[in-house]
Amino acid sequence: MRVIGAGEEFLTKIKNGDDAAVDGFTGKVYVNPDEETLKKMLEKQKKDTEQKKLLGTLKGKENITKDGRKIKIYANIGGLADIGAALMNDAGGIGLFRSEFLYLESSRFPSEELQFQSYKKVLESMAGRKVIIRTLDICADKRVDYFNLDEEENPALGYRAIRICLTQPEIFKSQLRALYRASVYGNLGIMFPMITSVKEVEDIQKIIAEVKSELDSEKLAYSDSVEFGIMIETPAAAIISDRLAPLVDFFSIGTNDLTQYTLAADRQNPKVEPFCDTHHDAILRLIAMSAKNAHENGAWIGICGELAADTALTESFLRMGIDELSVSPPFVLKVRAAVRDIDLRK
Ligand code: PEP
Ligand code: MG
Repeated sequence: MRVIGAGEEFLTKIKNGDDAAVDGFTGKVYVNPDEETLKKMLEKQKKDTEQKKLLGTLKGKENITKDGRKIKIYANIGGLADIGAALMNDAGGIGLFRSEFLYLESSRFPSEELQFQSYKKVLESMAGRKVIIRTLDICADKRVDYFNLDEEENPALGYRAIRICLTQPEIFKSQLRALYRASVYGNLGIMFPMITSVKEVEDIQKIIAEVKSELDSEKLAYSDSVEFGIMIETPAAAIISDRLAPLVDFFSIGTNDLTQYTLAADRQNPKVEPFCDTHHDAILRLIAMSAKNAHENGAWIGICGELAADTALTESFLRMGIDELSVSPPFVLKVRAAVRDIDLRK
């Protein structure tokens, strides 16, 4: 289990050998909890287990509202080890496979072959269900020494993700080659993070065309039906979603970053969390605008940020026309339960 954002002061209060109880619902950590706290926590745990059992009865059921509207519920994964959890929780596919793990776990650039084997494995494991792999989303605050990234004052606004890929095409191409080669083993979608302009999308498409022509000349097979998607996680992308939508098969809204950039609130800084209203009208309007523009241009739209699992918003997302929600595996059945409880005729 990982606890983040506890603050430096916390570390001075806990020492080796202390007992700690973590309340995963509230994010609170109790060091050397007293009897009463422990009792409360155990009761919570028991309730949670019962709830999970209840949710288990939803396995194999459709994600359908009372009035018949269907939605896809996929899982977000961060590595091959998470595939089991996605399947166990009955996810209809993988809506976000964060490919950074390949780079973070390695001490040098992962070879095309190593990447190919990983993508092939996830595609085969999902046996024909959709698998959306996001290309590299790395930045100066994710320490990957061999990238030789300069220290930056504002890594979230800096040289990251697609900006690295477009300026270092040899890194990008090796990932794209591995992805396209793996595409024949399943139902692949590729999506690109941190998009802010039409030009970026056009540049990506040019590089993909080059990769495909290289594979053709090497007689290496790839699928013709790989879906092309972009993440909508900057306000710029949402605002010009009418111009981006004709270029793509799908949008995937990254609400974690969309929230930080829209509300100017650093997602890594616990001090600004109280100023970070994830239900802020500005964010909901950007999502609704992107959904409208996607559909008007024949693209589909999903949400893969944490907000996708917020069941207080499931009905609003359905009313906006969101086609897919991609959530961490333990939330798949919870969101299914919420969808099945909704009646859009009301
Ligand atoms: C997001 O920004 O919402 C997202 C899904 O991407 P990440 O959390 O990996 O930045
Ligand atoms: Mg993001």
